[in-house]
Amino acid sequence: MKVSIIGAGVSGLAAGCYLQMSDFHTTIFEQNDRPGGLCVSWKRGEYTFESGFQWLLGSGPANPFYLLWSELIDMKSIHFITHESRMDIEVKETRSPSGETIFHLYTNLDRLRSYLVETSPDDRIEIDKLIQSMRRIQSFEIPPMIKKVPQLLPLTQKVRYMKYLPLLWFLNRIRKETNYSFARKLKSPFLREAFELLFDGEEVPLMVITLPLAYGDLRAAGYPVGGAAHFIEKLKDTYLKLGGEIHFKSPVRKILVRNNRAEGIQLENGSSVDSDLVLSAADWHYTVFEALDGKYINNEIRSLGNLENLNVYHSLVIVSLGIKRSFEGESHFLRMPLEQDLVSPDGTTYSRLEANIYNYDPTLAPAGKTVVSVSFYTREADWWIDLRKRNRALYSREKTIFAREVIDILEKRFGRITEHVEEVDVATPASIYRYTNNWKGSAQGWLPGKNIISRSPIKPTLPGLKNFYYTGHWSIPGGGLPVALKSARDAAQIICHDTGLKFGIEQ
Ligand SMILES: Cc1cc2nc3c(=O)[nH]c(=O)nc-3n(C[C@H](O)[C@H](O)[C@H](O)COP(=O)(O)OP(=O)(O)OC[C@H]3O[C@@H](n4cnc5c(N)ncnc54)[C@H](O)[C@@H]3O)c2cc1C
Repeated sequence: MKVSIIGAGVSGLAAGCYLQMSDFHTTIFEQNDRPGGLCVSWKRGEYTFESGFQWLLGSGPANPFYLLWSELIDMKSIHFITHESRMDIEVKETRSPSGETIFHLYTNLDRLRSYLVETSPDDRIEIDKLIQSMRRIQSFEIPPMIKKVPQLLPLTQKVRYMKYLPLLWFLNRIRKETNYSFARKLKSPFLREAFELLFDGEEVPLMVITLPLAYGDLRAAGYPVGGAAHFIEKLKDTYLKLGGEIHFKSPVRKILVRNNRAEGIQLENGSSVDSDLVLSAADWHYTVFEALDGKYINNEIRSLGNLENLNVYHSLVIVSLGIKRSFEGESHFLRMPLEQDLVSPDGTTYSRLEANIYNYDPTLAPAGKTVVSVSFYTREADWWIDLRKRNRALYSREKTIFAREVIDILEKRFGRITEHVEEVDVATPASIYRYTNNWKGSAQGWLPGKNIISRSPIKPTLPGLKNFYYTGHWSIPGGGLPVALKSARDAAQIICHDTGLKFGIEQ
């Protein structure tokens, strides 16, 4: 049975692997000349710049996603780094009792607890609750659940999953805690400021950080040395070894439908490819409203398309620099305040800056040189996309001016930057949109909002359309690589179920 897959991001490649294992003949059509989508690295001179891939949930056996990644990749062949500190935050208004301005979010939970309690013994009770909640996350046994697709489970099996109710109750209890609500419980002004600044002064569910921290402590949320390109190459190799085919530089225009059945795809160059099934692993909005002309929707999908129920995840401006110097002893990930607000060309004002210093990955730069990238989250993706369309020269000028301002700030903070910068690259929401087609340049699909574990409204099928399936990071709000993988595995199982073929992996 032939399946056309749109997109060779993590989700498209993973779905392709699972379907090949299940005796389908799949062909992936990818608009770019390389796989990876958002999970990508690119070369500038001697340097390799990263899209920002910092951690992979399931990089080690202590997290159940390890089992899933291991179905597709030899995880032992990748060297994952667990940083001593997940991030370091330079505060502005306060000082620690010992006069420090930098807060360390240690990955080792015992160390984190000692550090927090030493910093503020009066906050011991709240600190212990925080650490215990992460220990609790670590203690839950999830593996059998993660391999199942809820809608395919017979009632008898669903009943067996009642034993996971305590996990759901627990998650339900902690999901509403945000960095701000937690900060308000603390007596120490230094810790309060640090927790408020965990997400650059935004109020975000604390689980967004406690979940990776819990698994970071168990060495199961690490960074793969070699970055995104190395990781994606492994996934692509598996897919090709399983007999899958990829056509690069093959943007898909439409999904072909006859009698409400998907029958293949039409490429931008006008040619068509017939297949028994179509699986889109591309942007959700493009798939539903462009490739299928918005013909297969219901009220829920319509309201998602109008951004009534969920918001799109932030996009980013990423200033990447190749610098001819080492950054020994510097934090690998530093959030710091700015002396003066920085206004980006799209009008967003930043009072802080987030620097990734890749001093820990020698594959990204020659010895003695370092890749540094600075990320700015923005909600003004459309401004960048529109400017690039309207006036390419002005777009380039704005990028150059902004990069110069960022270099000046880094010069003041670290010294010895300006005259050592060898390569500069500015990726904007227009770049993200152009290279990955993600709606509004979204970095991770939908923003989870405060209700972080609520039921996802995105389904792997569309109402009224047969032989069509969807996978990708838009499938569950919050997105990220685990969602890209899990939704691909689920979609492959659903396809097997619907077509009567056996899923290729022993459950
Ligand atoms: C800066 C940054 C940092 C991140 N850091 C992390 C992290 O540390 N950990 C983590 O878990 N997640 C991280 N993420 C998120 C993660 O990278 C994404 O959620 C994930 O890669 C999405 O995979 P996907 O396959 O669902 O979608 P995509 O990567 O968007 O893949 C879709 C693919 O479809 C192709 N495509 C689209 N339209 C068409 C078309 N019409 N025809 C043909 N091809 C098409 C695209 O070119 C692309 O290759 C980060 C994202 C960003 C931007």
